[in-house]
Amino acid sequence: MSGGAGFLGSHLCDRLVRDGWRVVCVDNLVTGVAANVAELRGNRAFESIQHNVSEPLYLDGPVDAVLHFASPASPVDYADHPIATLKVGTLGTHNMLGLARAKQAVFLLASTSEVYGDPQVHPQPETYWGNVNPIGPRAVYDEGKRAAEAFTMAYHRTHGMQTRIVRIFNTYGPRMRINDGRAVPNFLLQSLKNAPITVYGDGSQTRSLCYVDDLVDGIVRLLEVDYSQPINLGTTAEVTMLQLANRIRELCGSSSEVVFKPLPEDDPKQRQPDLARARQVLGWAPATSLEAGLVKTIAYFRERLP
Ligand code: UDP
Repeated sequence: MSGGAGFLGSHLCDRLVRDGWRVVCVDNLVTGVAANVAELRGNRAFESIQHNVSEPLYLDGPVDAVLHFASPASPVDYADHPIATLKVGTLGTHNMLGLARAKQAVFLLASTSEVYGDPQVHPQPETYWGNVNPIGPRAVYDEGKRAAEAFTMAYHRTHGMQTRIVRIFNTYGPRMRINDGRAVPNFLLQSLKNAPITVYGDGSQTRSLCYVDDLVDGIVRLLEVDYSQPINLGTTAEVTMLQLANRIRELCGSSSEVVFKPLPEDDPKQRQPDLARARQVLGWAPATSLEAGLVKTIAYFRERLP
């Protein structure tokens, strides 16, 4: 599992170990956090290696599945690490596919709703090809993941490999880095400190937020089916960023005011997954309401307030 010490990766490590897998977590800790997998360290079914998967990785012994989750994933993080982001999307994917091929393992790619760019089709079905600016500030992530999907399908077609592609929509929950710059951590931290809540633009842009446990459940299901086409995972509970800011402020019982800041370049105006394929192929639907998920996330953030 690459990116195993990250937000999603560490939750997946927990779940896979709980399900009886032996897990090797590979992470260079650029945006991953060692503490996320600290509780797994004593477990004999768990091993962690500090390594950048944009460089080749050789492992001894059999491997049944390679899950490629390594990448900066927040717009602030990939703006801070643009070349590393592009490398892990392209070279990192190539290396992980090579590992999977050598081990005759299933390969699962963590792709993203960002492959749809600033979408002109709404909600977004997997058949939509997207609207991505190839030279904008988000391109290192978006085009890296699009190349990662192309690599995955090429290995599937050329080598007959078992591959999976999950297009992950906005996900939140415990272990998001408190300062990763995304909307949920920013709004939570600002609300808990009664500091101004920074809404970018006029706050009318939308996202659909999925709680991490639901997402992990969908990914585990995808690992178990024989399906190589991309599958969206997320929720259809679409909210504007202004609604999200107000919801979080209320749930925190905060007295923060909302302040408006400039909208970042190429910020998608709307985002909601079409989940028909996930329902049909995986029998999956998200189960956690935004309120319930936020309450758990708030509890995690409260304990870690700087
Ligand atoms: N956003 C915001 N205030 C913040 C951080 C983000 O209004 O302090 C907005 C951002 O402009 C975007 C949305 O929230 O429209 C979601 O941003 P995020 O960074 O969480 O992820 P994205 O979905 O853009 O990858």
